[in-house]
Amino acid sequence: MRLAIISDIHGNLEALTAVLARIERERVDEIVCLGDTVGYGPDPGPCIDLVRSTCRVAVLGNHDEWAITSPRYDAVPEAVWQSILWTAPRMNDGQLAYLASLPLVAHGDRLMFVHSSPVRPHGWSYILDEVSAARNFSAVKEGICFVGHSHFPGIYPSGDPPEERRYIVNVGSVGQPRDGDPRACFVIYDSTRLDDKRITIMRVDYDSSPTQEKIRATDLPQYFAYRLSVGR
Ligand code: ZN
Repeated sequence: MRLAIISDIHGNLEALTAVLARIERERVDEIVCLGDTVGYGPDPGPCIDLVRSTCRVAVLGNHDEWAITSPRYDAVPEAVWQSILWTAPRMNDGQLAYLASLPLVAHGDRLMFVHSSPVRPHGWSYILDEVSAARNFSAVKEGICFVGHSHFPGIYPSGDPPEERRYIVNVGSVGQPRDGDPRACFVIYDSTRLDDKRITIMRVDYDSSPTQEKIRATDLPQYFAYRLSVGR
């Protein structure tokens, strides 16, 4: 089984299109989406349509939830609040219903998929490093748990002996990387391999200038455009 796992598209249609073209060449069996398809970016509706038509498994992200339920104003940072206000009315009923249908957690064969953290899937806490990963292994019963949310890709092994070792894999962000590399990020998982190609963090170069132009033409916070150039 060969899987592509994508996350945190954030309404960036150009990044998503480039990543899906690369996945096409990678001959995967399935694509899984770990959520935050919307928020920040200028194309929430088209990104939902593409995820819905290409990903057999998908889970809910915090921005997806906020777009359909609207959090309390003081529960999110000001820029996120502006993003929610802009995004929510730009999805049609079918797109909203699709987001509302997504589960918080999905499972595969010795695999777990969740947007933020396996310990508290609805707590929206971040896995950024070994320390935050270690706090989450109690909820990973076996195999590999794939997460997104932090926009920082990484592969974190548990401290168990090699034959029982579990992994938390942060697949990074398709549409708004924050690790200093502006290229779109996702992960390929190949269950047939036992070597270091089993889990591969992929980067895809794409032209973000059309996305930035679209953001600049809205009243979204303008640094949402700038950060796509620097990956921060
Ligand atoms: Zn996100």
